[in-house]
Amino acid sequence: MPDIIQILPDSLANQIAAGEVIQRPASAVKELLENAIDAGATEIKLIIKDGGKNFIQVSDNGSGMSETDARLAFERHATSKLRTSEDLFNITTKGFRGEALASVAAVAKVIVKTKRAEDNVGTQIEIDASKVVLHEPCSCPVGTTFTIKNLFYNVPARRKFLKSDQVEFRHIIDEFQRVALPHPDITFYLYNDETQVYHLEASTMRQRIANLMGNNFNDRLVPVKEETDFLQIEGFVCKPDSAKKTRGEQFFFVNGRFIKSSYFHHAVANAFDDLIEKGSHPGYFLFMQIDPSKIDVNIHPTKTEVKFEDERLIYAVIRSSARQALGKYNITPTLDFDVETAFQIPTKKSITQVVIPTIKVNSDYNPFHKEKPVKQDWQNFYDVSKKEKIDDLLSNQWVDLETGEVLEQKKNAGLDELITEVENKVFQLFNRYIVAGSGNSLWIIDQHRAHERILFEKFVAQTSYGHTQMNLFPETWELNGADMAAVNEILPDLTHMGFDIEPFGQQAMVIRGIPADATNMASKQMLEALLEQYKNAGKLNPEDRRELVAQSLSGKMSIRGGMVLNKAEILQLIRDLFETQMPWMGINNKPIIFSKTPEELDELFLKFK
Ligand code: ADP
Ligand code: MG
Repeated sequence: MPDIIQILPDSLANQIAAGEVIQRPASAVKELLENAIDAGATEIKLIIKDGGKNFIQVSDNGSGMSETDARLAFERHATSKLRTSEDLFNITTKGFRGEALASVAAVAKVIVKTKRAEDNVGTQIEIDASKVVLHEPCSCPVGTTFTIKNLFYNVPARRKFLKSDQVEFRHIIDEFQRVALPHPDITFYLYNDETQVYHLEASTMRQRIANLMGNNFNDRLVPVKEETDFLQIEGFVCKPDSAKKTRGEQFFFVNGRFIKSSYFHHAVANAFDDLIEKGSHPGYFLFMQIDPSKIDVNIHPTKTEVKFEDERLIYAVIRSSARQALGKYNITPTLDFDVETAFQIPTKKSITQVVIPTIKVNSDYNPFHKEKPVKQDWQNFYDVSKKEKIDDLLSNQWVDLETGEVLEQKKNAGLDELITEVENKVFQLFNRYIVAGSGNSLWIIDQHRAHERILFEKFVAQTSYGHTQMNLFPETWELNGADMAAVNEILPDLTHMGFDIEPFGQQAMVIRGIPADATNMASKQMLEALLEQYKNAGKLNPEDRRELVAQSLSGKMSIRGGMVLNKAEILQLIRDLFETQMPWMGINNKPIIFSKTPEELDELFLKFK
């Protein structure tokens, strides 16, 4: 019998390793972004095509590589970040295993162009399934550009397993966020199929979160800061009233690296006990700094798991700092919608512009006194003597006068109680208005405008992807080339809002699903009208684009006048309306609610006596 064991050729070994490190386009994106950061870049540009399946490009203005290094970078276990085994316990870079580039190059075509500041010419290398097919000098700016084409083309089993471009792109966005969040000092760009999805200027942590997650986050963030001799925590927890039913924005970072930890998640969730409903999830962005020798990042190839020397201590620090933050920022419930009047509406253009600072801080309030549950003061809501001044009502935010910090969005605590209260005093009138009586107000609500506002805010704010109702029969939407391009531009917004739409050849889209909240099933006409509006609007930045899409769709998908609503639907509508930021004002600046207190009604009658 001959001997049968053989050493695998490098290309095959790399391909096997790639199975662990590179699972999908998003993993390649993560590795390239991390390399750019390790290279000291201050500006990083990510370009994606076809969900990353056919094209991923990362350009940075970092250190660049020498000709020899550029070639060596693709060898397995080739790294500039680690020399001795002691270094393994003092890791300050994102990478250190030296296998990412070797892995990617084994399962794709990779092109690198790189130049150091001290060199006159740069180097270009092309590798195709681990084989160097080109290696020559080139002219390029200082820094490095990696391009990855046809990922997994030589591993058909992997390629087949990839999901739709949209789904792959969502994974890429996830990785992009995880890298961009802990590095607000770096400018990032993200393009998807020629459309700019993000342009994140170097900024503060708070701004970076708002830029990535949506401007409405700015008002939700409560700062967290704690320093002990072995651990430093900084970041934000989201106010309890912005907790979500779906797990959304929950981020832990250790030394700038995103990690998953259900144990630490529990610590934050615990701090929110009593402050949010069961089944809701708090949002948080917590950045920890720990002496690298006290942690082990090398337990999984993707490095999202970390072992800590003293987990229980960290747990305690996380929990107490989150609690302190919540206590300090005085997250008290507020109830003010029954005294809302539709007449004092300030004319404001957009939901982001509302700030009339009024201070209102209950310095004795402590959310952690168990004998004082959060929703305790509900009865005050009905107490007319405590009615707030109109001035206060005009502001929907409480602002700390000293720091200008927005303390709280005045809204939705106690909604359950409100619903119980109006339950037996509510009906639909003319199939167009909802008439409701609360403790001390009569409301007449325009059902269409109310629902429009609800959808609009959902669409603009939603940072996790919307819920989709699948069409029983996918609809084909024929388009010409120009319209196809325009639809592709708004596709990220549509996907974000819960549409499931995909290109279907060069001249059509297939509509598989629409947002779960849509009442209008004529998806094609709806999208056609949106497309018309979009084309007429001219060039838009991503934020305005999303607003336009949201405005157009919420108008079309909302409940119209003439639609009959049952009791449950009416109550849901009222509940959702008061959860929005401006329940009283329609998205076209027309009133949603007409409201009268008993005194106002009395006055009305007196006038005519
Ligand atoms: P690791 O990051 O674990 O060291 P990689 O395979 O990701 O391994 O990269 C190998 C080496 O290539 C890195 O150690 C670094 O020296 C070099 N390199 C990779 N990307 C860049 C980049 N964008 N700029 C400069 N050097 C880079
Ligand atoms: Mg790396």
